[in-house]
Order: sequence, then structure tokens, then C-alpha cells
Amino acid sequence: MADVPTLSIMLLGAGQEVGRSCCVLQYRGRTIVCDAGVHPAYSGIASLPFIDELDWSTVDVILITHFHLDHAAALTYITEKTNFRDGKGKVYMTHPTKALHKFMMQDFVRMGSSSTDALFSPMELSMSLASIIPVSAHQVISPCPGVTFTPYHAGHVLGACMFLIDIAGLKILYTGDYSREEDRHLVKAEVPPIRPDVLIVESTFGVQTLEGREEKELRFTNLVHNIIRRGGHVLLPTFALGRAQELLLILDEYWKKHPDLHNVPIYYASSLARKCMAVYQTYIHTMNSNVRSRFAKRDNPFVFKHISNVPHSRGWERKIAEGPPCVVLASPGFMTNGPSRELLELWAPDSRNGVILTGYSIEGTLARDIQTEPDEVQSLKGHMIPRKLSVDEISFGAHVDYSQNSEFIEAVNAQHIVLVHGEQNAMGRLRAAMQDRYKSRDEDVKIHTPRNLEALELTFRGERVAKAIGNLAAKPPQPNDIISGLLVSKDYSYTLLDPRDLRDFAGLTTCTVTQRQKIALNVGWELVRWHLEGMYGKIEEGVDKDEVPTMRVMGAIDVKQTSEHELTLEWDSSASNDMIADSTLALITGIDKSPASVKLTTHSHSHSHDSAPDHPHPHADTDDEKASGTRIQRLAMFLEAHFGEVEFHMPDIASDEQPEEPPQPALLVRLDEADALINLMTMTVTSSNSALRKRVETVLDMALSTVSSLSESFVSSEPLTAEEAAPATEKEKEGSVGEQPTQPKAGPSNEVPSTPNGLSPPTQEGQDQDMDSQDVANVRGGAHVQDNATSAEQPTEQIPGTSEVIQEDDETVVAQSAQPTEPPSTPAIGDKEGSRVSGDDGNESDASSDDEVVLQVHS
Ligand SMILES: [Zn+2]
Ligand SMILES: [Zn+2]
Repeated sequence: MADVPTLSIMLLGAGQEVGRSCCVLQYRGRTIVCDAGVHPAYSGIASLPFIDELDWSTVDVILITHFHLDHAAALTYITEKTNFRDGKGKVYMTHPTKALHKFMMQDFVRMGSSSTDALFSPMELSMSLASIIPVSAHQVISPCPGVTFTPYHAGHVLGACMFLIDIAGLKILYTGDYSREEDRHLVKAEVPPIRPDVLIVESTFGVQTLEGREEKELRFTNLVHNIIRRGGHVLLPTFALGRAQELLLILDEYWKKHPDLHNVPIYYASSLARKCMAVYQTYIHTMNSNVRSRFAKRDNPFVFKHISNVPHSRGWERKIAEGPPCVVLASPGFMTNGPSRELLELWAPDSRNGVILTGYSIEGTLARDIQTEPDEVQSLKGHMIPRKLSVDEISFGAHVDYSQNSEFIEAVNAQHIVLVHGEQNAMGRLRAAMQDRYKSRDEDVKIHTPRNLEALELTFRGERVAKAIGNLAAKPPQPNDIISGLLVSKDYSYTLLDPRDLRDFAGLTTCTVTQRQKIALNVGWELVRWHLEGMYGKIEEGVDKDEVPTMRVMGAIDVKQTSEHELTLEWDSSASNDMIADSTLALITGIDKSPASVKLTTHSHSHSHDSAPDHPHPHADTDDEKASGTRIQRLAMFLEAHFGEVEFHMPDIASDEQPEEPPQPALLVRLDEADALINLMTMTVTSSNSALRKRVETVLDMALSTVSSLSESFVSSEPLTAEEAAPATEKEKEGSVGEQPTQPKAGPSNEVPSTPNGLSPPTQEGQDQDMDSQDVANVRGGAHVQDNATSAEQPTEQIPGTSEVIQEDDETVVAQSAQPTEPPSTPAIGDKEGSRVSGDDGNESDASSDDEVVLQVHS
């Protein structure tokens, strides 16, 4: 590939910040978006990621790692309020995430509906929810061609997963939020078994070391107990889902062991959480062994003994606040509004009370601000309230700390690491620490910390790996061995196999396309040879299996004298062979107009057109003159390719008859009624039309630098075997892929071997018209389509390979070239060509099935 594929990573959110996670991956024309969250410190439109920076109709897949609002709450806005639905994008999340996302978002809409800047309506939420495709951990999903992804458990909260994404062979692991420590109910994050090229990983805690789980729980329960003992109330601001369940499990267990606490209520102030408890119970099988074994013993850990729900009545906060000591888990975790904020304002002035922050507190929220233990806090109504309650932070955030993150990063072992979901300082320290590690070990690992909207472009070597299978893999190759086989490509994966294995391993069959074209011609065989030699140099001559005189042009095109006034061209279709066939056809059909032919036939004493020229073509490769002569012929061919018909004026033959001709050999190019004359001695161009002259000069320059190498460098893509180079009578060979002895050339070109150029028509194995261009087989010669479009633009010009009607006596023969075909839809596809030939009696007809040529490319 000429262009080096580039992976573009752009963060629309969570770049050097925590909140509104939204990571856009673009590679080889595919766009994948990981997460679509809001920023908890902002509200309304301001809380969204920078969604205007992406054309959402181009998105192929949106993957949501977990139900937290900072990862999922912008999804509805994106699916319902952008042009996402104009494209073919699909949305995926795990089953539990989908179930919990629904409750979270219903709550989110209810909270937002009172404010003026609600992001979307309940109706829009329902539409968005309906389009989410739920998936399971470890399932391999192919959302669109060239893309697969697999979710792996991420710990963190119920349903949270990482995504291992494969875009055209490039592997990216996006972690989302993850934890590596098994807690009371969740499994820890897995290290995917495949090494990705790029790791996009959270960096919430930077280089912090968090205390161990037991130590942390002990500190937490002691603290709660102390506040109760001093007659205070304990506020645990927490989100309804996720860590709350873990805290309830801890508290319930602690209460059980401490009868003195049994009269102290633990309130769980969330109707949302009550609804979600069913989801937790449903997905117990995805939780860790602790939960599963308790459940197996009919001890459902989510049926709490010591936890009470708060009363449904309005104003319960005040009632509880004024009552005896208690513990309240109240949402939201950031205390931006709602019950947790109200309780904080009520309890703040009393030093017996305490608030324990149990999650990660995002910058810009009260949960973060209060950690500085200010003397006053501002109430939602705007007045200042003295703060005397104690403030403690014990993180149950279920994010990895430095040692867990660095261990995971090293285990994943990606070449590029992209840090997201962390504040600038935390991220910067983690990056520095990781860079030191890699530097000390002399490892070349790149660590990136892009800001929002700062596009990160990563290039990867355009190297591709093809798996050799079947016969090719029977004997493991040694270093420096050259392996020849057939390269089959499907969705960016490559398989190299022996052509004999094609059917078994790739479900593909091949056959050789034989093209045949009949030409009615009023000149003799010897004259044809004379012209062919003039153009192509040495011509092999013999008879085919039916004893028909045959000349082989450039080892590829057989010209057969099928009857006195009829020639048949026959060749195995390929890009290069078709090109030679076109030029052969053009040459042959031009013979009777050639001044040289007139001269030659005139000099002959026979009335038959079969007469032999009495001297070889001056440019035939048969003598010393060949060098300059063939060069001129090649030049003419080259010019014909650009301008259509080119006339060759040879003074030694024509000068006395046509005195107006220039005295030196020249080529006449005629285009749209303007002429340009190329003097072959001086290689100068004259024309009354200066535009045409310039064009011809340019092409002539190109031609002069290439013509000398055309014939020398040309090798038929399927060289004749020694056997086939033998006289024509011996050239009989059954043509089928399985039997053919030659191997296709190895190398980057995608080639399907076809039958060697035997003179008998090849068999057509497994003929099937059902072409599936998505499943790829490659035909020798690659993508070639005969350029019949040219003829459409210039209908008056006779272009080789186009339809033409040749009048001969009372017989009309239509010679029609290959039909144009659609260009291949993937780079590696070979095209097919159908050919039609005329009936012998002059009636135009489709070729018989033997001549109908179809290449099988199907799975
Ligand atoms: Zn999270
Ligand atoms: Zn998060």
C-alpha cells in the first residue's frame, strides 16, 4: 500500500479531565466511538462532549463501557439529536449495562426535566434505548465489514467492560473505568488474551496508591461507628448504583457483627436503586464467587437485613436529619443537588455529624470542594452555612491505583498507550512514571495524553500478515524460503494457500477465461504474419490440435486461420493478455488499409490473398534491422493507446505514389479532425493545431522513454512452459486450476493462477454465475477492465477492442469485444470478463456456453 494507514484518536471528552468520556477512533474509513458521557460538573448542553466536532452519520459503531453517567448519559442526545441516524451506526453495551442504563437515564431525565436545559425528552430516551444492541462478555461481534470487537470484564461496576476492537487488523483496547481488585460482588478486570497495538486506558488515580481493601473497609466501618458513638449522623453521598451496593454489603455485614448498632438505622435513599436491585439479582451469575456461593446457599446478599428504605413522604430528609443517629446513603455522589445535598446542608453545622466521600470526586463539584474543609459551604439557595461536620474520604471508587494500573499496562504490552479519564496533573505524573519504567528497560513504548479535540495520529507499518494454510503449511518454510501461493483476502485478513486448496479452505473456485474473437479479413495468412512480426518481433507458428494454422503473438495470443477469409483470436484473459489482444486485433483489422500491404500484395503475382510477401517485414525481429523498426512500431502502439488510430507513413513504399507525403518516415496522429505529424527521423511534431501539437509532444516524450522497453520487458503473466513452447501440434493441455503445474508468482500482487496457454480451450470448473465481490478471489492480472468507455466518447474512431462491423461481400460479421465490467469493489478483486463471438453464418449470437466466459469468484 502506498499510503501508510493512520489511526486517528480524537477525544471529544475525558481528555486530561474526568467526565464526559467520548473517544473517537478512525482507521481505514471506519469510525468507532467509545463511550458517550456527560460531565457531572456542568449541566445542559455544556455537560456534553464536543459532539459538534464529528459527523455522526459517518459513525459505524458506538460502544458504551458502563452505565455511569460520565460514560453513557450523552448517548441519547447523540442518537436522537445529531445526524447519527442518517448513517448506519449501531450502539452496543453489555446486557446488565443496558438494563441499568435504562434506570439511570430515566432518573437522569426526571432530574433534568425540571430544569430549562433538559437535553432530551422521555420519548427520545425510549427511542435511543430501543436501538441499543446488548452483548455478552467474550462474545466476538462484527458490526460492519472490517470491524470486530469483544467485551472483557472490567470490574468497576456491574456490567462494566473493556472493548478489544479490531479495525482492519489493527487492535485497540479501550478500558473505560476498571478495577483490578475483586470486591464483595464484582470480578476484577481481565487482561485480554490478545496483545493490542494501542491501549486507551483510564488514569483517574494517576500515581496514587490506594489502601488495600481490608484496610480500607476497616477504616470505613470504624469511622462510621465512631460518628454514631459521638451521637452524630453519617452521610454517605453516593450514586444510586454501583458503589452503593458494595457499601451496603459492607455495612450490612458489619451491623450483623455488632448488635449494639442494631437500633441504628441505615437508610438507603434511592428508589432508583430499589428498582435496580432486580437487575443486580438477575446478573448474579456475572459476579464473583463470593456472591455466587452465598446465593447458591439461598443467602441472597442483596436482601439486606439491616438496611431500611427511607420513607416515601416529602421532606423525609429533614425528618431523618432531626432524628437520632443514623447512616444515610444518598445520591448524588457529587452532592450537586438532590437528597445528598439537602442532608449535607442540614448536618453541616453540627460537629458530631460526618460526611464520608466514598467515590472519586470530580473537579468542580461540591464533593470535591468540601475536601478542603472550608469553614462555610454555600447552600443551593445561595446563603452560607457554617461547616462543622467532619469530612473524610475513603475511596471505594473501583478505579485502579498506580500499582494496579501500571501492572495492567505492562501486562497488556501495547506499543502505544493513550491516557484518558484523568485530570491533567494525575495523568502527567502517571505518564512520567511509566516513561521512566520503559526508559530504564530501554523499551520503545509511546505514551500519549491528548487534550480534548487534539487529534492523535498514529501510523503503523503497512505490513500485513497472511496465514499460510493447507498444502503450503505442510512443510514449515525455512528462513529466506520463497513461498508461492494464492493470496485470498477477506475483510483485511489474508490467507496464502496452494491453488489446489482453494475450494476446501476458501470456498472459492477459479476457472480460466478464454476469450475468442473472429475477424473477417480479406488478406492472406503470410501478410498477417508479416505484419505481426513487424509489430511483435518473433512469432511462434504451428498448428493447433485441430490442425488449424496458428501463430502465437508474444506467447499469449493465438491467431488462427479458421477459414480462408476468417481469423480467430484466442487467448486466456488477463490484464496484459487482453491488452496484447487488443493491439493484435487493431493491427490485423488495419492490414488491408496499410499502404505497405497494398505494395506487398500488388507485387505479388497471385490473385489469391494468401500470397506470401516476397520480403520479410522491415521491422520484423528476424534480422538486424529489428531494433529501430520495432521501436517505431512500439511508438505507434503507444501513440495509438493515447490517440486512437495512428497512420504510419513510409516513404520507401509510398513516396512515389503520394508525392504530398513528407520525404521522411512519419507517424500521423489524427484527433477530432486535427492532424499532427511526427517526423520519425527528427522526432519533431508539426501540426496546425498547437494544442494538439503540445499534447502529442508530451505523449511522444513519454513514449520515447518507454517504448524501447515494451517488448523486452513484457513477459506474459503466465510464461509458456517448456512443453508449451514446443510446436503448436503438441500444445494440448487440459486447463484447470487443480491440474496446472505452474505456480503463480509470489509477491504482493494478488494473483490467481489460470490455465497455461494451451491451445485447447480450458475446462470451466464449477461454473457459477453468482458473483460475490465481497468475498474475494484474485485473478491473475489483477483489476483490469477493458476501456470501452473510450469508444463511447469517440464513436467515430476505431478503437481496438470495441464493436465493429466488418463488411465482406454479402456477409456481415459482427466482432464484438469483451463487455465492460464494473470495476472491482475491493482493491484485491480481479474482474470478470464476458466475451461474445459471432456465429459463423454471420448471425450475431451469443457465444456458446464454451465461449461464454465467467470467472467464478464466490464463497
Ligand atoms: Zn465509572
Ligand atoms: Zn468514569
